[in-house]
Amino acid sequence: MTGISLHNLTKQFDDVTAVDSVSLDVTEGEFLVLVGPSGCGKSTTLRLCAGLESTTEGTVSISDRNVTAEPASERDVAMVFQNYALYPHMTARENMTFGLDAAAGFSGTEATERVEEAAAILDIEDLLDRKPSALSGGEQQRVAIGRALVRDPEVFLMDEPLSNLDAKLRVQMRAELAELHAELQTTTVYVTHDQVEAMTLGDRVAVMNDGRIEQVAPPQDLYDAPDTRFVAEFIGSPGMNTVDATLRRRGTVSEIVWGDNTVPLDASPESLGLTSGDRVVFGVRPEDLSADTDGDVRMEVTVTEPLGSTLLVRGTVGGHEMEVSIQPRSLVEVGDQITLGVDPDRLHLFDPESGAAVY
Ligand code: ATP
Repeated sequence: MTGISLHNLTKQFDDVTAVDSVSLDVTEGEFLVLVGPSGCGKSTTLRLCAGLESTTEGTVSISDRNVTAEPASERDVAMVFQNYALYPHMTARENMTFGLDAAAGFSGTEATERVEEAAAILDIEDLLDRKPSALSGGEQQRVAIGRALVRDPEVFLMDEPLSNLDAKLRVQMRAELAELHAELQTTTVYVTHDQVEAMTLGDRVAVMNDGRIEQVAPPQDLYDAPDTRFVAEFIGSPGMNTVDATLRRRGTVSEIVWGDNTVPLDASPESLGLTSGDRVVFGVRPEDLSADTDGDVRMEVTVTEPLGSTLLVRGTVGGHEMEVSIQPRSLVEVGDQITLGVDPDRLHLFDPESGAAVY
């Protein structure tokens, strides 16, 4: 069964197309992450799912029921916001039970039981009688998640719920959300601009750019086989290196060339529907380059960043900025010339105009 399904979903604000013909099926029980740069339309997509914005075109279905015309209150979704959106004058318990009243079909005992159950899951039993001002950011976020949990909705919609927390707490809460999802298996759509969060939480990740979905795939597939240059550069920390280059064929040998640099290619231009001399965008991830004295690529080092587990080296290669991730404690300094080998199985080519992957 489908948890939530979007079909040609479009939202126009005056002259801005915030969401542009988005179609997406989220399976029941799936954790789907929407990721992309600021302004790409993630929050608007989520708000359209929740019924907090009206659609310009297209449909939203929840559990195979078309809810496009239904108000937010009838959609059986619970939303968690970045700023927690707790009522400051109410205790944590009152915030969680707010709306779980007789009118919504809940008896007092039922509401109390649900809050206690959610509080136990989130480990906030001792905090229930405090007001938000007496709670830390992480605790407030737990209460906000608790408020969503007690509704036992068909779908959780989460809009950057961890972005107001400090880095350490964010990592901890991320693990807790993953655990919670494993336990409850509630269909979840989660918005973030943080691609590490997207990769670690999502069963699948949808990358948005300019109102459209560029690619939807499990995290490792997105990383290993990006469909577009945009996805290649966005996913990864740092993202994939991309440089403008030319394909060349010399006899039986095929190469990617830019400046004085030549990288062998295990496929002929013709097998890719291209010809020798065609322009391409060459892509390689920083960790798929290695410091190698017989390497194909020469880099002049401009920055070194020791990250502990790896040494990130930035430099110029044939006039293009590139980054390479090498062994920590390597003796590389700013100003050095180093040669780099390219893992032939891990290189990518993209069309310079459309950005579509061609290899
Ligand atoms: P961020 O990560 O910065 O929150 P986002 O990817 O969630 O960004 P949206 O908030 O969905 O992006 O916004 C998408 C586009 O729609 C932006 O250009 C934004 O300025 C515009 N937009 C969003 N809401 C409105 C509104 N109520 N009126 C006019 N334009 C809007």
